Amino acid sequence: RAKQEGRQCYRFFTQEMQARSARNLQLVNALHHALERDQLQVYYQPQVAMQNGHVIGAEALLRWQHPELGMVSPAEFIPVAEGSGLILSIGEWVLRSAVRQAKTWIDEGFGPLIMAVNLSAVQFRHPDLPELITRILDEEGLPHEYLELELTEGVAMHNPQGVIAVMNNLHERGVRMSIDDFGTGYSSLSYLKKFKVYKLKIDQSFVRDISTDPEDKAIVSAIISLAKGLGLKTIAEGVETAGQLAFLREQGCDEMQGYLFSKPVPIEQFEALLKQGFVF
Ligand code: C2E
Ligand code: MG
Ligand code: MG
Ligand code: MG
Repeated sequence: RAKQEGRQCYRFFTQEMQARSARNLQLVNALHHALERDQLQVYYQPQVAMQNGHVIGAEALLRWQHPELGMVSPAEFIPVAEGSGLILSIGEWVLRSAVRQAKTWIDEGFGPLIMAVNLSAVQFRHPDLPELITRILDEEGLPHEYLELELTEGVAMHNPQGVIAVMNNLHERGVRMSIDDFGTGYSSLSYLKKFKVYKLKIDQSFVRDISTDPEDKAIVSAIISLAKGLGLKTIAEGVETAGQLAFLREQGCDEMQGYLFSKPVPIEQFEALLKQGFVF
C-alpha cells in the first residue's frame, strides 16, 4: 500500500513537473520575441520622502503583456529570463528606458529624482556591467548619482568578495546601490560594512503587520537603527496603511514605497504623481 501511494505520489509529481516545464518552455519561447514585438513596458512606482511627502524617486518595474498569455508577473518571468540568458538584453533595455525617462523628468523640472532599477544576479555577475551602466548614463546624459541599482540580499551574499569588487567599481563611477528585500536573505552583517551600499530596502513581509505584530515591529526598528548606525538610508517597501506609516515615521525611516501612495504606473500617470506629491 505504501508502495502504491509512493507510485501515485511519483506520478503526480512528474505530471506537475511536466506542466511546469511546459509552461517554462512556452514562456522562454514567447519571451524571445517580447522585446521586438513591443510587449514589454516599464512601470514606475513613487518613492516618497517621510519628511515632506515629496516624490523623490521612482522604482522601475518591468511589465510583460502577452497577446495570449495576458499579463505575466515579473515574479514568474524574471527567473525564466535569468535561466535562458535573455535577462541580459531585457535588463539592458530596462536600464536604458528608465535612465532615459529619468533624464526626461529631470529636464522637465521634476528633479532631483532618483531612478531605482532592479538588477538580477546574472546581470550583476557579468564582467561588462560597470562599463555598460556608465555607457548608458553617459549616452542618455543622466548624472551618475541619479541612478540607484537594487540588488537583493541573495545576490549580494552569493559571492561577497566578487560583489565587493563590483560595488567598489560602480561606487567609483558614482552610481548608487541599495539592498532590496533586506532582512530576507541571510545577510552577514559584517559584509554590510564592506558593501558600498547607500540604502536598505526593508522587505514588505516585515512591513505588512507592523501595526499589530510586536516581532515585526522589533525587526523593522532594528533594521532602521542598524542602518542609521552604518550611515545608510532606509526605505520601507509595501506600505499600504496609515498605521504602518505612523510606525515607520516614529522609528525614523527615511522613505516609503507602497500602494498607500501608488501602485507601479505607466509614464503619464507617474507624471501626475510627480506634480501632486503627498500629504500625510
Ligand atoms: P521588488 O524589486 O522587491 O519590487 C517590489 C514589488 O512589490 C513589486 O512587484 C511591486 O509592484 C510590489 N509592491 C509595491 N508596493 C506594494 C504594496 O504596497 N503592497 C504589495 N502587496 N506589493 C507592493 P512586481 O512589480 O510584481 O515585481 C516583483 C519582483 O520582480 C520585484 O520585486 C523584482 O525582484 C522583480 N523585477 C521587477 N522588474 C524587474 C526588472 O526590471 N529587472 C529585474 N531583474 N527584476 C525585476
Ligand atoms: Mg526592487
Ligand atoms: Mg523588494
Ligand atoms: Mg522582491
